[in-house]
Amino acid sequence: MEDTILVVNCGSSSLKLALFDQNYNKIASALAERLNNTDAFARIKNVDDPVVLSANADHKQALAALVNAFRERQLMTRDPIAIGHRVVHGGETFREASPIDDATIAAIESCSSLAPLHNPVNLAGIQAMQALFPTITQVAVFDTAYHQTLPERAFRYALPDHYYRDWGVRRYGFHGTSHYYMAHEASLLLDKTPATTSIISAHLGNGCSITAIRDGLSVDTSMGLTPLEGLVMGTRSGDVDPGLFDFLAARGISAREAHRVLNNESGLLGLSGQTNDMRSLCDLADHGHEPSQLAIEVFCFRLARYIGAMTASLSRLDALVFTGGIGENSARIRRETAKHLCLLGIELDSDLNRDHGRWSDGRINAADSRYPVLVIPTNEELVIAREAARLATN
Ligand code: AMP
Repeated sequence: MEDTILVVNCGSSSLKLALFDQNYNKIASALAERLNNTDAFARIKNVDDPVVLSANADHKQALAALVNAFRERQLMTRDPIAIGHRVVHGGETFREASPIDDATIAAIESCSSLAPLHNPVNLAGIQAMQALFPTITQVAVFDTAYHQTLPERAFRYALPDHYYRDWGVRRYGFHGTSHYYMAHEASLLLDKTPATTSIISAHLGNGCSITAIRDGLSVDTSMGLTPLEGLVMGTRSGDVDPGLFDFLAARGISAREAHRVLNNESGLLGLSGQTNDMRSLCDLADHGHEPSQLAIEVFCFRLARYIGAMTASLSRLDALVFTGGIGENSARIRRETAKHLCLLGIELDSDLNRDHGRWSDGRINAADSRYPVLVIPTNEELVIAREAARLATN
């Protein structure tokens, strides 16, 4: 019988569960959505029949139903050797993944004010799995941990000192698991070691962030105190003038309402007025929808500006790396971004870019580009599975 590892990723109203074998091949994955709603549902990937959930099922009930479904289908014939949890915010407490005990739970709770939509549901997932598997090692893998190597000049905001000392107002950065994986995978493709690899990693999905990685360590990143800062995203604005909040307050829009709009109704959705989905946006632009074309231009220009900004943290660049749903799949976004980078000497090969580097070990740069450009599919679940197994067998 094979050893397995479970990976749990709880979002505010959804969750993902993945099952890996001892060689880190994914055996099964499952999804539950619309949790705490009357039409909550769950299913295992590539299985037609849904997993039955009661109306208003919560994270705990959905996890119990999915674990049961894995067992019934003989996907998991005995308890896993480890369970890894994605946890969004580890504050300054967690510089790496951590086995979960009472002290870990208390520390995750104490970071909840920094991620009120995420940490409480991450904890709900942890507690649900502890009830289902009381003797199995559970491990928390934090989105923020990889960025704990940022130097102070990169993580501090130019605000009154006590904002940081008293309330922890600083740049934390997110998508750390993905950026860490990019550093690791890029080093393999470049025939180097992670500790000698310096890259700029652009994670472009529904959420987007970019990180400067020097000799394997995160030294600057675009997301900040919250995942709202930085690049243009699906529904998030990224950077705006902080003066906007007072300007809007004078027009009757509270800070809370402005925050909601900046998170949920801005970014590609706000600019296009149509969609937060980059693929649909490209289709609309192709059919002459000008706001969609503008949204693409703003997205690419902001990204190119940040690529330039990230070079300030590096003394050498081994590769520019694209990942995430957009970064891996959109030749157009990579091409439009690279057009702004000619001063850096970054040139793409149009054929390799169109093929997403699939026939060239991820490389999409032209032969005369000053720097390699790579497309690398991200795999945050794999990193979490490896970390969980490593800490469980330590
Ligand atoms: P993620 O959050 O990493 O799953 O990425 C989701 C984003 O990737 C959405 O905006 C998708 O539209 C986008 N995406 C996926 N495939 C493509 C594609 N072929 N072209 C453009 N965007 C894509």
